[in-house]
Amino acid sequence: MGEFKGLWVYSENYDLMLELLAGSCTLIKNSNIELAAVLLGSGMKEKANEAFKYGADKVFLIDNPRLKNFEIKTYLDALTGLVKSNKPEILLIGSTKNGKELASRLAARLETGCTPDCSQLTINEDGWLVTKRIVYSGRAVVTAIFRKKPQIAAVPPRIFEKMEPKEKSGEIVNVEVTVEEPKLEVVGINKMKTADVKIEEAQIVVCGGRGIEKKEDFKSLEELAQLLKGQVGNTRPLAEDRKWFTGWIGLSGKKIKPTLYMGCGISGMIQHVAGMRDSQLVVAINKDPEAAIFEVADYVVVGDLYEIVPAIVEELKKKMKSV
Ligand SMILES: Cc1cc2nc3c(=O)[nH]c(=O)nc-3n(C[C@H](O)[C@H](O)[C@H](O)COP(=O)(O)OP(=O)(O)OC[C@H]3O[C@@H](n4cnc5c(N)ncnc54)[C@H](O)[C@@H]3O)c2cc1C
Repeated sequence: MGEFKGLWVYSENYDLMLELLAGSCTLIKNSNIELAAVLLGSGMKEKANEAFKYGADKVFLIDNPRLKNFEIKTYLDALTGLVKSNKPEILLIGSTKNGKELASRLAARLETGCTPDCSQLTINEDGWLVTKRIVYSGRAVVTAIFRKKPQIAAVPPRIFEKMEPKEKSGEIVNVEVTVEEPKLEVVGINKMKTADVKIEEAQIVVCGGRGIEKKEDFKSLEELAQLLKGQVGNTRPLAEDRKWFTGWIGLSGKKIKPTLYMGCGISGMIQHVAGMRDSQLVVAINKDPEAAIFEVADYVVVGDLYEIVPAIVEELKKKMKSV
């Protein structure tokens, strides 16, 4: 392969792609590396114009009805062709379930490296991408440096924050590729019923842990979250062991960055903290004065959550009545 140039971002999750654009702007600040967004799909033209407002200098657009739904083989073929003919130096792919598969298979086809689930990215003085990834349940960090281009890294949601849109235009490169008829036909999509705001996007999260004895006791946390206009979250044992919920916050779950995180009856194991440590303000309620969660808390409340949470709820209700 000849000269490689430019940093590209791609994700089938459009919001994640905008986050990657923001992160890339920081990564290549003060350099002359061109930033391009790759859009694959059907009916994507409007989104192409929008990507400029979020930092892209260029958009590679492959708009094809056969790309209407994500299908690994067709998307992989389209992206492989595009990368081979345009040779980006760096390609950041959103680390979703689909994105991880796409990134690793693309790297294998191009005989290059791929680092999954990167939590930090830098470019070293020789111009190579350096990525960091948390491993062994948060006990170690792997630092990887690329030796071959294109350098492909998969980056999970919420590592970067989407930037405020600014008026900006750029070049749209319409790319025609031959896309084989997908082998599968999607006949319908039934979306799971979820909260109006995704937990990753919530500004206030009231999180419960194993200190909560019964599922119905979670109601007081829900009430608190409602009064604060926030959402409830939970640790992994409440989902995996007790089966009260389907998801959780942490290293192996969702990563959150709220302005306020309130942890109730949570010990603060590293795997949970890895998912909430970027919260702006952390309040922790635990009856054990030695609880590890207190090490990352701004406000420490030592006591029984069964007394403290209702007391906060009452206080908030009083305040609201008096306003
Ligand atoms: C590979 C791997 C990945 C993992 N990933 C995740 C992950 O992504 N997210 C995650 O959450 N966990 C994860 N875990 C599990 C993690 O190691 C911990 O077991 C888990 O976070 C503990 O949850 P907890 O704090 O709710 O429970 P516990 O550790 O049991 O803590 C309960 C806390 O509640 C306090 N408490 C009890 N009663 C009260 C009361 N009445 N009032 C106040 N405080 C009280 C106790 O003092 C205690 O500190 C993972 C584990 C592994 C091995």
